[in-house]
Amino acid sequence: MKAVIIGAGMGGTSAGIALRQLGHEVEIYEQVTENRPVGAAISVWSNGVKCLNHLGLEAETAALGGIVDSMSYIDAFTGETMCRFSMAPLIDEVGQRPYPIARAELQLMLMNAFGHDEIRFGKKMVAVHDGPDGATVEFADGTTAQGDVVIAADGARSLARDHVLGHAVERRYAGYVNFNGLVPIDEEIGPATEWTTYVGDSRRVSVMPVAGNRFYFFFDVTMPEGVPFERGTAREVLAEEFAGWAPGVQKLIETLDPATTNRVEILDIDPFHTWVRGRVALLGDAAHNTTPDIGQGGCSAMEDAIALQFAFRDHPDDLHAALATYEASRTERAADLVLRARKRCDVTHGKDPEATAAWYEELRSEDGTNVIRGIVGNIVGGPLT
Ligand code: FAD
Repeated sequence: MKAVIIGAGMGGTSAGIALRQLGHEVEIYEQVTENRPVGAAISVWSNGVKCLNHLGLEAETAALGGIVDSMSYIDAFTGETMCRFSMAPLIDEVGQRPYPIARAELQLMLMNAFGHDEIRFGKKMVAVHDGPDGATVEFADGTTAQGDVVIAADGARSLARDHVLGHAVERRYAGYVNFNGLVPIDEEIGPATEWTTYVGDSRRVSVMPVAGNRFYFFFDVTMPEGVPFERGTAREVLAEEFAGWAPGVQKLIETLDPATTNRVEILDIDPFHTWVRGRVALLGDAAHNTTPDIGQGGCSAMEDAIALQFAFRDHPDDLHAALATYEASRTERAADLVLRARKRCDVTHGKDPEATAAWYEELRSEDGTNVIRGIVGNIVGGPLT
């Protein structure tokens, strides 16, 4: 079988490696000309790490991952610790440590594992056609690619999704903007092996370690969609938005590099359950675009890749049965994660201010049990459980 994969994000590259593990021929096409992902880092939760391990990347992943031994929530204004607890119960329960990883490094690791030079960069898909004997992708440069199957891992703004669903889908603004980047670890901001989150006023500021003695940081700022922003002005904007916040937050604002700080409006898509049309299948954000509030979008994309592998392994001679199995095994799980993230997003960002205030109160008496139960609930349920 020959698979044509569109998109060399973490979904497309994982799928490429996974299908090759079965011995299939795979071509990956990517519209950009080099590896320059949007966003500084991501937390790869235990389910995502298990997928990477399954792809043969256990040692590489561990080498890129930050060590998070504990979590804490800090009152935004007083700087008082609301709760602090160990991650050990979570790691014990699910059998795998999570790893925050710099996004460009994660992406490069996956690209190298597939074969960086084999990825066809600068190839923008402009149309996909399905036929009885194969599917064809057209690129903006006038060339085409043909395969027995097309795996569309073309991200949140997927073009292939319109083809699979037969109509365009509206993305939904989640009500906040996320600023993110990397800074050297600084204990004035947070302990070196802790995921520290400052909360207050329906906003949050977080740091967590990645390899190389760096913190991945992000600020969530609730604001209307479409507020103009000039790249390079993050320090001024954040200093104003977070005036009066605790000293650790002020130190982070002073330390960050405005030139490399990203700003992303957060959107998601209502879950849908049709991921396959003929020989074209959606994978990753193309199929389930989520807010990042439970850190599961990329993990879910990697779960898709493993589920796709299992489906083709179990139906080696029937491509349509394999794709139907893939779809059936993933849509409910992915939808659950999108809706869990949306719920978490609403509580964190003050959709109902009373619910947000109640959450802050809960955090003051939290011993880790409830938070870890919630995270374990997100982690379990994928192809590698
Ligand atoms: P993408 O990474 O978007 O890759 C799609 C690729 O397809 C891109 O390279 C794009 O250039 C290419 N492409 C698109 N259209 C075409 C075309 N027409 N032709 C050719 N190529 C095309 N997830 C987590 O698991 N943990 C986290 O902590 C986390 N944090 C996040 C924080 C933020 C602020 C955001 C915005 C997201 C976060 N996510 C997180 C989600 C995660 O980034 C995505 O779920 C993940 O990147 C999806 O991977 P993907 O391969 O499906 O899509």
